Amino acid sequence: MEPQKKHSIFIRDINDRDLANGKNGGRIHTRFPPEPNGYLHIGHAKAICISFGIARDYRGLCNLRFDDTNPEKEENEYVNSIREDVRWLGFDWGDREYYASDYFDSLYQHAETLIQKGKAYVCDLTADEQREYRGTLTRPGKNSPYRDRPVEENLDLFRRMRAGEFPDGARVLRAKIDMASPNMNMRDPTMYRIKRVSHHRTGDRWCIYPMYDFTHCISDSIEGITHSLCTLEFENNRPLYDWFLVELGIHRPQQIEFARLNLTHTVLSKRVLLRLVQQKIVSGWDDPRMPTISGFRRRGYTPSSIRNFCDQIGVAKFNSTIDMGVLENSIREELNKTAPRMMAVLKPLKVVITNYPEGKTEELEAVNNPEDPSAGSRKVPFGRELYIEQEDFRETPPPKYFRLAPGKEVRLRYAYFIKCEKVIKDPATGDVKEVHCTYDPETRGGNNPPDGRKVKGTIHWVSAKHAVSPEVRLYEPLFNVKDPNDFPEGKDIFVNMNPQSLEVLKHAKLEPALGQMAPGERVQFERMGYFFVDPKDSRPGQPVFNRIVTLRDTWGKIEQKRPA
Ligand code: ATP
Ligand code: MG
Repeated sequence: MEPQKKHSIFIRDINDRDLANGKNGGRIHTRFPPEPNGYLHIGHAKAICISFGIARDYRGLCNLRFDDTNPEKEENEYVNSIREDVRWLGFDWGDREYYASDYFDSLYQHAETLIQKGKAYVCDLTADEQREYRGTLTRPGKNSPYRDRPVEENLDLFRRMRAGEFPDGARVLRAKIDMASPNMNMRDPTMYRIKRVSHHRTGDRWCIYPMYDFTHCISDSIEGITHSLCTLEFENNRPLYDWFLVELGIHRPQQIEFARLNLTHTVLSKRVLLRLVQQKIVSGWDDPRMPTISGFRRRGYTPSSIRNFCDQIGVAKFNSTIDMGVLENSIREELNKTAPRMMAVLKPLKVVITNYPEGKTEELEAVNNPEDPSAGSRKVPFGRELYIEQEDFRETPPPKYFRLAPGKEVRLRYAYFIKCEKVIKDPATGDVKEVHCTYDPETRGGNNPPDGRKVKGTIHWVSAKHAVSPEVRLYEPLFNVKDPNDFPEGKDIFVNMNPQSLEVLKHAKLEPALGQMAPGERVQFERMGYFFVDPKDSRPGQPVFNRIVTLRDTWGKIEQKRPA
């Protein structure tokens, strides 16, 4: 795997300094800490590439740790999908797969230690009262009336919380820090709450659960993490993490924040993605339109294209939104070098070559990949009846239209020049049903004729007699505005959904070899884009094609379609 060049410059600076100073014995140990409450998305891919990439480049280690402190929303399905996605991206955590829930006993002990030090107390305020006491950004909080409970009473109550003596929500354990701190995270945050919910790993062993902030920093500490790399929104949590670790006198990793990834036309909120799945707006977390890693995988993206994208966008200290076109370019560039080209007519129009002998078939030579001579060539059947794209014919062509039109001549790729002689219409609707053409036998292979005549347009085609018609799926973004989070007050993000994000074509005409493609293979349909044989819905001899990406950036078009 290519080392990631440009990425994470600022993180490396710190690492180099630390390594030079001999901090942590020159060791680099990072982790990727997902909460198993949803599938990973492209933003997580960035975080994975950073943490695993740094570990790889510095010959360090990176753990996979599930931060599973919230039993209500966590499931094994998510754990499994996260493992699969990280591995698919090309990273390996060896035998270092950890769970915050494995540390519940240690965490409980650390909580008792803080109580004994007079640094934590059991608070009986209701949730509403706690909110009220907490203050606001402009107004300092007030001390809880339970804040000065004696250590013995706190210990007793905390143990009884654990023993299940109190109902859910009746009491919490809080850190005793500073209710007047300008940093809201420091205003005596909750460390434990009572919650009778089965946990995906610990079952019903616990009826109290540690809060994320308390758990996260101690988990990093237990694992000997040297650099905790996380997104910017955790900047204000850093003082709290440091407080816990300093008070407990345990190893303190260095936290370094980087900007979250945002993409145009895309929502990277697990909450919204979960709604899309639950409301069946998409077919699942791996729907090819989803910005999840599994969605991109099923769409046909390669792990290297996603890693290269993460490398290319780099790491910064300020949040910004990356154009979706950048990600698309990354897969386009890769497939341009690797994908064979074949011909497929997505929206067919029949062409009859009236001067071509009935019943005759020719095998014409077609190059598999002009970017890769080693890919060789293949034979494509040609006959009297063909299909071309509907959009490659215009009865009344606009200026500069170089494709087929009455009286006009075009080149059929690898075949012949044809000239449109006659248009056959459906008498009822007036729609063009067929186009009758003549061909020039002197142009075999698509070459210019001896008379030096030239044509401007080259179009693709498929022989009608030999064509196969697998299902082809075309995608557009799920959201048809650049910033889906920009919606009118009182409305929901779903007002920005694109109703045409999926188009299923049942009548496409493909050259015969495409009917034999295997699930997981990628191909360019000449002029129409890169396609992937869907690994889930394809059957032997019956591929289903997902369009990964068009050949050109089409985001401009989507912008135009956007309602005023
Ligand atoms: P939640 O709201 O459920 O916490 P989350 O997206 O933060 O959602 P986590 O499972 O906590 O999900 O994320 C794991 C790691 O991935 C975190 O360290 C987080 O900082 C990082 N991460 C999440 N979203 C992005 C993003 N858009 N860009 C870069 N990193 C991200
Ligand atoms: Mg999170």
